[in-house]
Parts: sequence; C-alpha cells; structure tokens
Amino acid sequence: MIQLQSVSKKYGNGVQALDDINLVIQSGEFVYLTGASGSGKSTLMKLLYREEIPTQGQITIDQFNVNRLRRRQVPQLRRHVGVVFQDFRLLPNLTAYENVAYALEVTGDSRKKIRRRVMQVMEQVKLAHKINQYPDELSGGEQQRIAIARAIAHDPKILIADEPTGNLDPESALEIQHILEAIHDRGTTVIMGTHNDQLVDRFPHRTITLHRGQLIRDQAEGGYYEIS
Ligand code: ADP
Repeated sequence: MIQLQSVSKKYGNGVQALDDINLVIQSGEFVYLTGASGSGKSTLMKLLYREEIPTQGQITIDQFNVNRLRRRQVPQLRRHVGVVFQDFRLLPNLTAYENVAYALEVTGDSRKKIRRRVMQVMEQVKLAHKINQYPDELSGGEQQRIAIARAIAHDPKILIADEPTGNLDPESALEIQHILEAIHDRGTTVIMGTHNDQLVDRFPHRTITLHRGQLIRDQAEGGYYEIS
C-alpha cells in the first residue's frame, strides 16, 4: 500500500509543486496520474522513488517509511519501485541485453542467474530476438520496452511510468500499454503519468488528476467522485 498524508513539496526556487496531497493506493491497483503540464505529476512520482523528498507530510510505501529511509534502505526501495521515463534513459553504449543485465549486477547474482532473469523479462516485453542491438538500432517503442524490462528486472512490487508513451507513435504507445496491462495482471501496482486520453479511455483504470499541485479529482474505474 502507498499512503501519502498531507504531502507538500516546495522546490528551492519557491515553486509549490504539490500542496497537501492525501492519497492511498492499494497493492495491485492500476492508477493513471493526469493533469496539465506543470501540475505536479512528475514531482509526485519522484517522491515515490525518492528522487525528491517532501517538504511536509508523510509517505509510506509498504514496509518503507520514505521520509525516514536510512541510506542503506534507498537501494532496497529502488528495487521495490521500478521506474520508466518518457525518454527511456537507456545507456547508449550498452546493448539491450547489457542495459538490463547491468541493473541486476548489483545483486551479486551469478551470470547464469542474471542471464535467466534478463531473458525472462525480455520475453515479457517481446524483445528476446533483439537483445544484441544497441539502443540507437531500436525504434522508440522497442527502446521503451527495453526500459520496461530493466524496470521490472528486480520484480518490483510497484512500477512507476512517467509518460511512458509521450514520445511514441500511437501504435507503439498501444504496445506499451498492453505490456503495462500484462505487468499489472501479474499483480504489480502500476502508476502511470499520462496525457494520452485515448489510452485512458480505452483501458479504464482509477484516474487521479492534479491541478496546480492539488489533487482535484479521484475517479474510480466505474465512476468518479469529487474530492471535497
Ligand atoms: P508535471 O509532471 O505535471 O508536468 P512537475 O512535477 O514536473 O509537473 O512540475 C510541477 C511544478 O514544479 C512546475 O511548476 C515545475 O516548473 C516545477 N518544478 C519541477 N521540478 C522542479 C525543480 N527541480 N526545481 C524547481 N521547480 C521544479
């Protein structure tokens, strides 16, 4: 379970990116995070993988008290929460295989065990036949699938995707959505920041909307209710 209690974030330049957010996301949910550019979506997601820390309020993610995380617990949180970005962020001089294996090397597992896991996640994103390609030899959609493979390599309980289809054509975006749906079907909590109304309409899930740092709407899959 993810719980935010009265969470606010003000950046050093004085911008109030989030203002008193209260939110509970249960394990296994699929949640869209929507809102205009600058409404605070990325900031909210950054707080969940501790790229940023809140200026006020409490965040708990399963066993982690994110505010009071000890230094050695940060890598544990990052294995618990996988992240995918709009711009993929693959390492350009590593092959697709190496990009994913690299993420697993920190575990100290044997090469054989790492290979098995890399191939498993490559099959999940349907790219087992392109593992030896470099990122610039892959389409945007394929690069994003590699980035997803890397994000799920540690079998995280939560997957955060910050506009994962933002740079993709509609067909590739649809493929990415199908992969995220499959990851969700296996029990992973998925939180997806998006502007892609077509996907939101076609694949209905709980939808949380931010406006100028405030949570203005929390719409359940089967209907919505306004935040009072
Ligand atoms: P969104 O993801 O919805 O586009 P963001 O969370 O990126 O929104 O940004 C929310 C607000 O915080 C914006 O006004 C943005 O300019 C500001 N902001 C984001 N990151 C930083 C930062 N590192 N330093 C200062 N201001 C920031």
